[in-house]
Amino acid sequence: MITRFAPSPTGPLHLGHAFSAFTVWEMAAALGGTALLRIEDTDSTRARASHEATIYEDLTWLGLHWPTPVRRQSEHNGDYQTVLSKLAARGLIYPCSCTRADIAAAAAQTGVEGLVYPGTCRHRAVTDASATDALRLNIDAALAQINAPMRFKEQHLWHDVDPDRLRQTLGDPVLRRKDSGDPAYHLACTHDDMLQNITHVVRGMDLWALTPLHVLIQTVMGWPTPYYHHHDLITDAAGKRLAKIDRSKALGKYRAEGLSPNDIRRLVGLPAAIS
Ligand code: GLU
Repeated sequence: MITRFAPSPTGPLHLGHAFSAFTVWEMAAALGGTALLRIEDTDSTRARASHEATIYEDLTWLGLHWPTPVRRQSEHNGDYQTVLSKLAARGLIYPCSCTRADIAAAAAQTGVEGLVYPGTCRHRAVTDASATDALRLNIDAALAQINAPMRFKEQHLWHDVDPDRLRQTLGDPVLRRKDSGDPAYHLACTHDDMLQNITHVVRGMDLWALTPLHVLIQTVMGWPTPYYHHHDLITDAAGKRLAKIDRSKALGKYRAEGLSPNDIRRLVGLPAAIS
């Protein structure tokens, strides 16, 4: 059993991260497995080395350990480019230069609600992509190439991925970001889960809605789908006790105020660790 904690170093860790990390490491301990730390720093416009350094410091303070070297996604852009090339060769991606305003305007015209991308640039050939274009996955083309069932297991139950819902709620996802050319989270995350032989993905409920898309990418690429556990977010888990807690306060601040890792566990609604 291999699981992972995969923070993005775009800000300091807060209580929600601590709860997630404790859950990941406890799942690994309970199942006799290993918890990896992965730094998801593909967004070069937001990732900062200083936040990464704080992640190591905070997790060590919480008493968590991980095998080294840690995978830092920004060092592996070539891997993600290889996946994009494979998808391009299969006719599954296309360039897109739409801004958020373009998408909102086009979506409004087609009656699609919100910012679901309505496929404006689908007609464009990937060979015409400029370095600053986004690259999007054509969901319909991808679905047409899939002949395996799309589903994932959570809480011992199978969840089927509904292609229509995927189309309606997510649209064609960006796999390479506009302007920066950075690989998108969905691509780097699913690729690395495959590469690192992750058997159990333990992460917050906030990512639940994206899991069907991850299963689509895994299925179209022929990668295994891990077991998923989406844990409650701390407000739900600890209920009223957290009402007065500042969820955006950096863990380092609690540390500086003299709180112990067990105090952090208590704050997020977990029992004290036996030391
Ligand atoms: N890097 C993502 C985040 O910080 C988490 C990805 C995941 O656990 O799948 O929200």
